[in-house]
Order: sequence, then C-alpha cells, then structure tokens
Amino acid sequence: MSNANVDQHPHYRHLTSAIWVLLIAAIFATVVLTQRSLSRLADSREVISHSLRVSKALSDMTSQIQDAETGQRGFLLSGRAPYLQPYYTALAQLRLSRAALGIALSEDPSALAPLDVLDKAIAAKLQDLDRAVSLKSEGRSGEAVESILTDSDNQTMIAVRVALRALGTDHVRRTNQVQTDIEQEVKNYYLILGVSILVNLILLAGLLQRFRQASLQSETAQHAVDERNVELSRLLTMAASRNAQVQGLSELSRFLQSCADLGEAAGLLKQHLPPLMRAASGALYLADAEPGPLHQAFTWGDKSYVDSFEAGECWAARLRQPFHQPFETGTASCAHLQSAYASEHNSNNIQCLPLMAYAELLGIVVLEADLVSDPQESLEIEGSRRFALEQVGLSIGNLKLRESLRQAAIRDVLTGLYNRRFFDESSQRELLRAVRQQAKGDYAGLALMMIDIDHFKRFNDEHGHEVGDQVLREVAQVLHRQTRGSDVAARFGGEEFTIVLADITEQLALERAQRVRQEVQELVLHAGAKDLGCVTISIGLAQFPAQGVTVDALLLAADKALYEAKAAGRNRVVVAS
Ligand code: GH3
Ligand code: MG
Ligand code: MG
Repeated sequence: MSNANVDQHPHYRHLTSAIWVLLIAAIFATVVLTQRSLSRLADSREVISHSLRVSKALSDMTSQIQDAETGQRGFLLSGRAPYLQPYYTALAQLRLSRAALGIALSEDPSALAPLDVLDKAIAAKLQDLDRAVSLKSEGRSGEAVESILTDSDNQTMIAVRVALRALGTDHVRRTNQVQTDIEQEVKNYYLILGVSILVNLILLAGLLQRFRQASLQSETAQHAVDERNVELSRLLTMAASRNAQVQGLSELSRFLQSCADLGEAAGLLKQHLPPLMRAASGALYLADAEPGPLHQAFTWGDKSYVDSFEAGECWAARLRQPFHQPFETGTASCAHLQSAYASEHNSNNIQCLPLMAYAELLGIVVLEADLVSDPQESLEIEGSRRFALEQVGLSIGNLKLRESLRQAAIRDVLTGLYNRRFFDESSQRELLRAVRQQAKGDYAGLALMMIDIDHFKRFNDEHGHEVGDQVLREVAQVLHRQTRGSDVAARFGGEEFTIVLADITEQLALERAQRVRQEVQELVLHAGAKDLGCVTISIGLAQFPAQGVTVDALLLAADKALYEAKAAGRNRVVVAS
C-alpha cells in the first residue's frame, strides 16, 4: 500500500478525528476548571475582606469601650465637664462600630447568639459607666467613685472583653476554615490544570505528528505524480517522434516503391536516410548482388569512407547484426573503417548497421554519432534506427525483387542479353524515333545487325549441349561489351543475335560490326582443360532508311545479307544492298 493510500485509509482518518475531538474536550475542560477556580478566588477575596471588616469592628469596639471608660474616669477624678467629651464621642463611635459589625455578620446565622451576648455585656457596661457619671453630675462624688471600684463594674468590663474575644476567635476560626478550603481548591486546580495541559500537549503532539505524516505523505504522493508526469511527457515526446518517423518512413517507402531502379532509390535515400539515422556523419553502401562487394552509394557529414569493400571486411555484414566499433581502443575493428579511424582516438559512437531484406544483405550503413549518456534515450535512438533500416531494407528488397522480375521478363536467361520480345518492342520504338529525328534532318541513321554463329551445331555435336551453351554465353558477352547504352543487343533465337545501333552512319556501323566479328574470332574457348578451338560469326548489316523504313523490312534485308555472308564463306560482314 502506498503512502498516499495510507493517508486515505478510513482507520487513519478516524484516528485524526478522534484526536481532534479529545483535544477540543480537553481544552473545554481546562476552560471550565479555570473559570471555576477564578470564581473561587473571587469568593475567597470576599471572605477575606469580610473578615477584615469584622476584625476591624471588633478591634474598634474594644478601644471605644476603653476610650469611654477612660473619659468617664477622667470626669470622675477631675469633676470637669470637658472630660465627658471623649466619653460621649466614644459612645457614639461604639454605636457605629456595632452597626458595622452587625452588617458584616448579617449573613452569618451562627454569629447571632454571640452578638446577643456581646450586646448584653456592652449594655451592662454602658449602664455602669452611665450610673457613675450621673452620680458625679449630681455631686455625689463619693458614691460615684465607690461605684467604679465595685466588683460588678470590673465584671461587666471582663464580660464585654470575653464576648468580643469569643466573636473574634469564632470568626478567625471560620475564616481559617474558608482559607484552608480555598488553598485545597487551588492545589486541586493546579493539579488538574497540570494534567490537562499535559493531556493537551500530548494530543497536540499527536495532531502535529499526524499533520507532519499527512504532509510527508502528500509530498511523497506529489513526488510520485510528478515522476509519473515526467515519464508520461517523455513517452508522449517519444510517441510523437516515433509517429513523425513512421510518417516520414511510410512516405519514403512510397517514394522508394515508385523508383525505377536502385540508383534512383539511392538518390532519394541520400536525402532522407541521414535524419532518420540521427548521426552527424555516415555512409550507405549497397550490394549489387550477394555475395559481392559493397559500393558506396553516398556519404553525409565530414568523414570520408572507402568507395567499396568486401562483405568479409565488415563485422556487421558477417554477423548480419549491428556492430559497434570498440572506440575504447581508438581504432575500428572493421577493416573498411581502419583507414578512416586509424590514427584518431575516438570517443564517438561508430557503428555499422546491416541493411537486410528477406534474409539477404542489401547493404551496410556506417554511422558516427555523439554518445548519448541517458541509457533510455540511447535505447530509443537505437530502436528507431533499427526500425528505419528495417523499413528501408524492405523497400529496397522489394525494389530489387521488382527489378529482377522485370529483368527476368526482358532478358534471355542463358545469355543475359535482351530477349526476342524486348527486341520487338524496343526496335519498333527506336525506329519510330529514327523516323521522327530524320524528319528533323539531323539524324545519321539506324543500323540493324543480324548475327549467326558459324557452324554452331558442331559445338553441340562434338562437345555436348552444355559446351554449346557456354559458347553462346561467351559470344553474348562480346556483343554486350561492344554495345553502348543506347544500343539494343538481343538474342533473336537459337544461335542468332541482333544489335540495333541508334544514330549511326553506315560506315561506323560497318566498323562496329567488324569489331564484333573480330573480337568473337579472337575468343579463346576452353571446356575444362579441353581446347574448343575458335568460334566465328557472320553478320548481315541493314541501314535505315536505305534498306527499309520498317523493322520487318530491315530484318529481311539484314537476314538476306547474313545469308550472303554465309554463302561467301562465313566469318564476315555483308552490308545489305
Ligand atoms: P551455320 O553456319 O549454317 O549457321 O551452321 P549452324 O550449325 O550454326 O546452323 P544450324 O541452324 O544448322 O544449327 C543451329 C544449331 O543451334 C541447332 C540447335 O541445336 C542449336 N541450338 C539452338 N539453340 C541452342 C541453345 O540454346 N543451346 C545449344 N547448345 N544449342 C542450340
Ligand atoms: Mg542459325
Ligand atoms: Mg549458325
């Protein structure tokens, strides 16, 4: 399973969702706990300020009762009225403090009983103070002093102090209790907050890990997609270039099919083959026949190559497969390349590729291309060269096949000269041309030779039919050698031949006929070790338009002249009259 698939797996998606849910729950719990603790702290602040108010009221009341008592004592001792001023002030302040204490403890029902005790003790104490002040004011100083020295006066003050302390102690105890609770609460809060932060951090780390994984996976997936895209575009480019190559090749094949001969095909290939081979320089060699030498058809680039070589000098021709010259050694392995690359230390890619069709070696392509470092590209280029050569090989193979069929149709099998049918067609054509040219007035004339081997039957009779055939072939070779491209030398039938010579005077035609006759006479014939003696021919020569303006007329005239030559003793040329 790929990373991209892992990320899309439901199990992994559920895990991420679960972490998200837990994280949100943990954050929510932290917020709720914090909220609760803050409200507890607000409560504790309230409790403390309330406690401060109670303490202050209690402490004020203690000092105010003492102030009132001090004022009263001063008045009793001095009898002066100004001493009563602090006494009354203290009493007024004591009432205010009592009211403040009442408000501070109003929400504490447990404080009602001790407050009641305090009120009663204060009332008793104030009553004692007031009675002594009244006695003094009435002038009964002795009774007034006596009243403050009684046990009861001392007792009321003690009762007030006890009641105040009881309230204070109780209040301190309650406040301490509240503070202890709050401290415990704060401790619990810190504990829970710590745990919650830890859990949050763990969950966050989990999420981060998931994100990191997801981003890594998406990077890997993206990388894979990028790689696939690059590969795809490479394949597309390759397909496009292959397509263009196939199109070019099919066009080239079509042109090659319509070529009349190999020469024309070579001209076409000179233009089209180099780009298909994708090499800076190279050469095409074609074989006329197999086995036989390979002749240079054309080269391209700046290298020079030998004009021809034997198939044995090329490893590609011998092995019938592409052969790379081992450039590491600095010289080529194939003998035909050794002159071109003898002294050079070559780092290039030099190879010989066979051009084949129907298991026959048609030629060799030599090429020199730059080395390609990318093995994939190198393979692609090799493949495209091989494909191109296969197609070109097939086209040339077909062309050669067609050419050999055509030759078979117009050539005589035994002698290789044109056959009677071709002679009939081409002689008619030549005569028509002669008529046209003559009408223009710049035509020398057309000559027709009728040739017959003298006493040919003897060769058959004395040496056998095989030797007869051999003599026919050797005479035919002389005729072949003695004719120009525009002449038509044909086997007319049996041991008779004709040659049509275009645009030639009678004099020149006679000279040519004599030369042919002479060369045949000079043939040295052997059948194995056996000397066959010499062979001669007789020739009847007729000239257009002097002896006729049709082929039949010329043939008749030449035949007649030949008959005359035979009659006159053979091995001679007779010009028709
Ligand atoms: P002449 O000088 O009068 O022409 O004598 P000749 O013997 O050449 O003439 P003839 O017409 O009597 O003989 C021709 C012979 O050529 C007869 C035939 O057997 C032989 N011949 C014809 N075609 C072939 C061939 O294809 N191969 C061989 N070996 N012989 C052939
Ligand atoms: Mg004959
Ligand atoms: Mg004959």
